[in-house]
Amino acid sequence: MSQNNFMHYPLDESIIKALTVLNYMSPTQVQKEVIPLLLNKRDVIVKSQTGSGKTAAFGIPLCEIVEWEERAPQALILTPTRELATQIKEEIFNIGRYKRIKVEALFGKSSYQSQVKNLKQRTHIVVATPGRLLDHIERGSINLNQVKTVIIDEADEMFTMGFIEQVEDVLKELPKKRTTALFSATMPKAVQNLSEHFLKKPQFVEIESTDTTKKRIHQQFIRVEDDNKLSTLKDIFVVENPDSSIIFCNTKLMVDRLTEKMQAAGIKIEMLHGGMEQDDRSRIIQEFKRGYFRHLVATDVAARGIDVADIGLVVNYDLPEKTETYVHRIGRTARFEKSGKALSLVNPKDKNTFDLILKEQDRLIEEVTRPSRAMVDKYRIEFDTKQGQKPTLRKEKGHDFKDEIMKIHINAGKKTKMRPGDVVGALCNIEGMTGDDIGVIDLRDISTFVEILNGKGEMVLKTLQNMPIKGRMRRVSRSNESDYERDLKRMTRRK
Ligand code: AMP
Repeated sequence: MSQNNFMHYPLDESIIKALTVLNYMSPTQVQKEVIPLLLNKRDVIVKSQTGSGKTAAFGIPLCEIVEWEERAPQALILTPTRELATQIKEEIFNIGRYKRIKVEALFGKSSYQSQVKNLKQRTHIVVATPGRLLDHIERGSINLNQVKTVIIDEADEMFTMGFIEQVEDVLKELPKKRTTALFSATMPKAVQNLSEHFLKKPQFVEIESTDTTKKRIHQQFIRVEDDNKLSTLKDIFVVENPDSSIIFCNTKLMVDRLTEKMQAAGIKIEMLHGGMEQDDRSRIIQEFKRGYFRHLVATDVAARGIDVADIGLVVNYDLPEKTETYVHRIGRTARFEKSGKALSLVNPKDKNTFDLILKEQDRLIEEVTRPSRAMVDKYRIEFDTKQGQKPTLRKEKGHDFKDEIMKIHINAGKKTKMRPGDVVGALCNIEGMTGDDIGVIDLRDISTFVEILNGKGEMVLKTLQNMPIKGRMRRVSRSNESDYERDLKRMTRRK
């Protein structure tokens, strides 16, 4: 196997190993700049878009810095939406898998009690939306005294969504001696103020690749009127026939309506907006990521920062009111060195907004006309064929860990007085097992999940069928399905 270029950083072997499984073989530009700074505990402001590998740019040094033995959280990541919190948690969990890093995500509309319980277990890194974190702080259910590194992710979005004051309130609660990093795609005044107040002599990093990303996005616009907007969109869809796409609307209502109309026209498309139940939002995002369906109609709040590979087309069905939002939206395509197209439908009443977008974009947004009838007819069969094809599902991010890591389930937990030490003790009694072969232990009320590393899962599973744990025989089984797959099954059963 070729050498992993992350070896040139002072990173623990366990982290290099995880990066290799993830197939992160060379650092991206933002990683090259940010990893050494954070490892050296320097405050940093990073102007960079999502899609540049920025989550790992802070995730890798955080996993390196945290000390496994410490029980209270040592690193905190603030992010504007629940979806982003989940995404970041997954990425960091994968990077820290062999170091057995425990990551906890705290966000609203999800069980407060189970978050409190999880926080009582060892937690190395917390990913949180500011509101829910403040709740935990106020109720005293989180100990932040050991926090040494703080990441403020998507700071401009925090500002747009009205969270900046909450972010400030959180920062005031943290130990003064710490490293702070702020990530933002754009630098509005409020974000600059925040960094002046809360960062110490920050190093400023601007990632050129924002520009190369933009180069890879082919930006176009079509002039439309209200009464031909929908038919124009349908025609574009047929002619462009993208493998995957996101259509942005400005309101939930519009998302509802447009989805209904597109579905009525026989287009397989789903929707995502902030008014939907959290379960449905998570399911839709996971299914979109995996490729269960290929097209999505969404508002900005729901689609923020979402990392989905291969989105070939982004459509602004409604033009966003802010240039910053335009930049975010088009950034959903051309991710990770791919190319893509962003097409905006521009109404005469959008003139002022669009003029501003044109002015602030340093690249050309090419005007094109609606595809002709003949064009649409020509591409129709191809479009219908693609729609009828069964989607090819993408692997889950952590999928490649499965060969080496087996998650087992033990039917005993906190209520039966099981403790992590009991599990470790039993496992280390098995011949050929050492502490290094035990991954994350997740102790729940009546069950315990343990990851067995280094391909030793089968052997452990077999041995535990005839071996007591804490003095008693326990039911031990394999649990390799992801939480998501379990949730999906549960939801399908409910329907
Ligand atoms: P982000 O900017 O954090 O949303 O990351 C964009 C995508 O790049 C994600 O799917 C990451 O998993 C992927 N990625 C991040 N770093 C690397 C790397 N060094 N090599 C390959 N892929 C990466």
